[in-house]
Amino acid sequence: MSQFWSPALHELTPYVPGEQPTEQVIKLNTNENPYAPAPGVGRVLRDYAASHLRLYPDPDSVALRQALAATYGVPVSSVFAGNGSDEILAFAFQAFFRHGAPLDVPELTYSFYPVYAKLYDIELRQHPLNERWEVDLDALTKAESRSGIIFANPNAPTGHAHSLDALKALLKQVTDRVVLLDEAYVDFGAESAAALTQRYPNLLVTGTFSKSRSLAGIRLGYAIGSPELIDGLKRIKDSFNSYPVDRLAERVGIAALEDTAHFQACRESVIATRQRTQTRLESLGFTVLPSQANFLLVEHPAYDGGQLFVGLRERGILVRHFNKAGLQNFLRISIGTDDEMNSLIEVLETLCA
Ligand code: PMP
Repeated sequence: MSQFWSPALHELTPYVPGEQPTEQVIKLNTNENPYAPAPGVGRVLRDYAASHLRLYPDPDSVALRQALAATYGVPVSSVFAGNGSDEILAFAFQAFFRHGAPLDVPELTYSFYPVYAKLYDIELRQHPLNERWEVDLDALTKAESRSGIIFANPNAPTGHAHSLDALKALLKQVTDRVVLLDEAYVDFGAESAAALTQRYPNLLVTGTFSKSRSLAGIRLGYAIGSPELIDGLKRIKDSFNSYPVDRLAERVGIAALEDTAHFQACRESVIATRQRTQTRLESLGFTVLPSQANFLLVEHPAYDGGQLFVGLRERGILVRHFNKAGLQNFLRISIGTDDEMNSLIEVLETLCA
């Protein structure tokens, strides 16, 4: 606490990401991709002339935005690039949600949204998930506000994704405020709504290179929306006089987008491993929420989630345990390689014996 801080800072509970261990562990706690990025990324890093870093990056990231536009079949004017999707979410909160009215969110979703809401003085109106642990689209559709709607699809930490038809039904009803779909995990089995942005000018879709493109160590994210919304994000960015994407990161991102075969192979491996892991966890007695993401939210009716978390940690396996009402008995387990998941199951077999 400090007398120099502005009032919002005193109440701010900073987002606490999963820990980054220093010792050798099996890391299944922050939903990174277990596979290396596309080989072309390695070539960019090897061949990059350091002298290029003398120059500032392109403030508009045109080359990267062109590559993203081609990937999603949208015009370049519909694409925004930033330092990870978290940065773009921060811009979006400032650009679209500060109407002095509540922002509608699911009660259980990415825990960064409340941090931004607090930081930018935005009231949140939280809507419980439905009885199937899904984002309640009806409740969000019926909620009236001048601010907006935000949720992750697939949602985190549950993994459930709504279909494009269900999202379209919401977008047909909600036309007067921004609907932000956070698609950080969309490539692991859900359908991207990026193309819908061409029909619904109030839809903003955010995406990241951190998950399905295996580039969490380089901060790269993007948003797709109508030129009107992209212009809104640009106004926030430009008022910081910031260059959104480093020169090297831009080249790395383009190399990752170019290799569609590597992308498909990695995501298919993650999906197949997720399915195998789910089956094995269920045979150990776990309840596993259906997931279209690269993680599973699980609970065991007979064992305490917090104790399982500690037991796994003691044996060198990091998963995520949320100290949050309703989630205390759950573990969120990122999907690693088959070997890593075999080790996880072996340890759980001893812990749940
Ligand atoms: N959205 C969701 C739902 C996430 O889980 C994450 C990663 N923690 C992000 C956005 C941010 O991803 P990044 O900043 O790495 O692009």
